[in-house]
Amino acid sequence: MDSVLKQRITALIYDEYSKLKPSSKPVIKSNGTKEWTVLASIVAWNSRDDKIRMICMSTGVKALPNELLKRSNGKMLHDCHAEILSIRGLNTVILHHIKNLKEGETSDLINEVDDKYIWKMENQLILYISRVPCGDASMNTIESQDETSETFEIPDDNKTQYLKCENSTILRGRLNFTKKGYVRSKPGRYDSQITFSKSCSDKLCTKQVTSLLNCLTYELLSEPIYLNYLIIPSLNETDSIGLKRCFQDRFQNTSDREQSYQPKLFDIENCEGKFVDDKQSVEETPSAMSSIKLYFDQFNIQEQAILNGVKNGSYSKGSKPLRKGCETAISRYSQWKLYNQINSERDKSYVQFKHHQKSRRVMVEHFRHVLSSEGWVPTLEDDCNI
Ligand SMILES: [Zn+2]
Repeated sequence: MDSVLKQRITALIYDEYSKLKPSSKPVIKSNGTKEWTVLASIVAWNSRDDKIRMICMSTGVKALPNELLKRSNGKMLHDCHAEILSIRGLNTVILHHIKNLKEGETSDLINEVDDKYIWKMENQLILYISRVPCGDASMNTIESQDETSETFEIPDDNKTQYLKCENSTILRGRLNFTKKGYVRSKPGRYDSQITFSKSCSDKLCTKQVTSLLNCLTYELLSEPIYLNYLIIPSLNETDSIGLKRCFQDRFQNTSDREQSYQPKLFDIENCEGKFVDDKQSVEETPSAMSSIKLYFDQFNIQEQAILNGVKNGSYSKGSKPLRKGCETAISRYSQWKLYNQINSERDKSYVQFKHHQKSRRVMVEHFRHVLSSEGWVPTLEDDCNI
């Protein structure tokens, strides 16, 4: 990608970030400690008219412990890492556009042809992330940093490095970072409640096979869509080695010799500059706040600050039921509701619908086995009804 285009894209994203409400951003705490976060954004670059269109923007570095998901009913976001929120955001925008088309409106992203919905292929998809995604892609970077190397060093026979001790192909967070090419859970403090959510590296790697679509948009679009470019600022050589190994070489080294599902690899692009609220020193703390901003069209833009997986201000403590209307626009519940306005599936729950989708299920399960030969450790199944 040419550097002028990259500059235009990042300038647009940083400008949009500057417009976020203060409540959506990291703060300086009362004790003077500065908070940091990760910024992600998905934009469409129209290769015909050379226009760049914001689709969504998100911030965040938190994931919910498995324990807290029991009362979710599709309303809590398990994984609030910025890049994962952006992919959810893209799917919500697609659902909105299809609903609008069905109601006779127009869309700049999707065509309707004989009751089929087709992504306008001139809209190439670009994901910007302000730093290397957590998990496998960042292991080379972590290994090269002196201050962290002692913290996560662990003997090879120590079972605490595994998410489940009987499964040696899924590692916990950053533990034993010398191991490369492994599925990892989201990093967190070792004494915090465990999350089974997988790292952003593993999720992004999987999207190169299963597409950016979730089970709902996969059903509606006639062809899946893939990411064309991943842009990350200020990459050094070590970062680039880790990224290439995780997102490209991992496919060559897997047990999937037959390559049953051909991956659509995205280009990895470096760009100049730094995100203003990136982590700058070890004294800074990660922000608890996440956010999402959805650009449905020029006139319809929605921004939500997110805390503990729900809308900021809507969280209720552990033992109480969730508050009505606490769910964000990108929650499973909101997406399932939107989907039902397009295709009514009211006789099924979300999970029943998902399990009905045989070919997508087989593809997802197959690729999980490619990444982790000793099986998968799923997060709590979070079902919902409308
Ligand atoms: Zn992450």
